[in-house]
Amino acid sequence: MVLDDIIRLEKQYYCPVFSRQKVCFTRGEDVHLFDTEGNRYTDFLSGIGVCCLGYSDEGYKDALRGAIDSLMHTSNLFYNEVQSRLAELLCKATGYDNAFFSNSGAEAVEGALKLALKYHYALGKPRRGIITLKGSFHGRTLATLAATGQSRFHEAFRPLPKSFVHVDPKDPGELKDAVNGGTAAVMIEPIIGEGGVSPVSGDFLAAAREACDKHGALLIADEIQCGMGRTGTLLASEASGIKPDVVVLAKALGGGVPIGAFLARGEAARAFSAGDHGSTFGGNQLACTAAYYVVNKLVSTDLMRRVADTGEYFISKLKELKEKSRKIVQVRGRGLMIGAELAPDASAKEIQTSLLALGFVTATAGTNTLRFLPPYIIRREHIDSLIGALETLL
Ligand SMILES: *Cc1c(COP(=O)(O)O)cnc(C)c1O
Repeated sequence: MVLDDIIRLEKQYYCPVFSRQKVCFTRGEDVHLFDTEGNRYTDFLSGIGVCCLGYSDEGYKDALRGAIDSLMHTSNLFYNEVQSRLAELLCKATGYDNAFFSNSGAEAVEGALKLALKYHYALGKPRRGIITLKGSFHGRTLATLAATGQSRFHEAFRPLPKSFVHVDPKDPGELKDAVNGGTAAVMIEPIIGEGGVSPVSGDFLAAAREACDKHGALLIADEIQCGMGRTGTLLASEASGIKPDVVVLAKALGGGVPIGAFLARGEAARAFSAGDHGSTFGGNQLACTAAYYVVNKLVSTDLMRRVADTGEYFISKLKELKEKSRKIVQVRGRGLMIGAELAPDASAKEIQTSLLALGFVTATAGTNTLRFLPPYIIRREHIDSLIGALETLL
C-alpha cells in the first residue's frame, strides 16, 4: 500500500488519539528502518525504547519462531516453563525475589500499586497514599494516569482515583514532608523519560529510600523506560546505590514483543496470594520467550558495556554541539537514554520532523527536549551522522 492510502484508512477507521509522523515503516534491518516509499532511516528511537536489539538479531527471531512453532499461549491456569525460567533469570540478575508478567507498562505499574496496597492490608494497617514525582509518566490507565505527575494528561478524566500526591523531584525536603504513616508507596522513575529525560539525583533517591524505611512505605522504581540495560546497567536504580522494594519493567524487556513485569523483594514479594492479581495473556510463552532471549543476551554478553560506552560518546558529541550552538541549552541522560533540551526559540517538534526528513528517527520529551532511545547496537558512525544533521539544522 502507498502511504496516502494507509493514512486515509487510519483516518476513517482508527481511533484518532495519535498525532503521527507521516511515515509508515515496513521493514527493519540492523539499526535501520525502511518506509513504504523505499526511504531508509537510522533509528534513534527503537519504537520508544523497545527494539533494543535492533532488527536483525537472528537468535531472537529463531527463538520466536520456535515459540510460534511449538506453543504461544496456554493461560495462567497451567504451569509455564519459559515464564518460570524468565522469572528466575530476572531475579538472579537483579537480586529480587519474584516476578509477575503483564502485557504492558501501565499494567505492570497497576500491578505494583495493587501490590503496595495489599502489602499494607496484609499487615492489618490499610494505607492508600501513593507519592510520585511532578513531571513523571506512569501510563494511560486511570490509576497510572493519576500517578502521572503531568496535569495535561488529567483534564478530561477527572475525578481520577484519589490518594496520589506529586512532589518536586528536585526537593528531597518536600518528599520527606509528604511521606507519613498513610503512605503506601513512593513511586519514582530514576530517570524521568516522557517528562523530559531528567535523571533524579542520587540524593533524592537516597532520601526516598530513607523516608520509606522510616514510615514503612514501599519504594517502587518505574524503570519501564530506563531499565533493562538502557542506561548501561540492567536496572537504572543500581547506579544510584539504593534498592527499591519493587521495580517495574516493560519497553525493552521483550525487544518488540509486548511484555511488562514487576519484580518484588522481601515482604513485598509475599504480599499477593492466589486470586489477588492475574492476567489472561500476561507472561505467555511467546512474550516470555522474547524476554528470555533479551535478558539472557544482556546478562551474558558485553552489550550493556557497549551501551555505556556508546552512550558516553553520544553525550559528549551532543555537549560539543551545545558549545557550538546556543539552541541546545542542556544535554541530559545516561547510557542510551539521552535528551537535548532546546532553547525556547527552537522547537524540538520541528527539529524532530526535519530529522525524520533527513533519515533519522527520534522523539521529543517534556516541553522542548529532543529524545534519543536508539537500539543498544547503535555505532559511533551512526551517531556522527546524526550529529552532522543536527548541526546543520541548528
Ligand atoms: C512508557 C512508560 C509507561 C507506560 O508503558 P505502556 O507500555 O505504554 O503502558 C509507564 N512508565 C514509564 C516510565 C514509561 O516510560
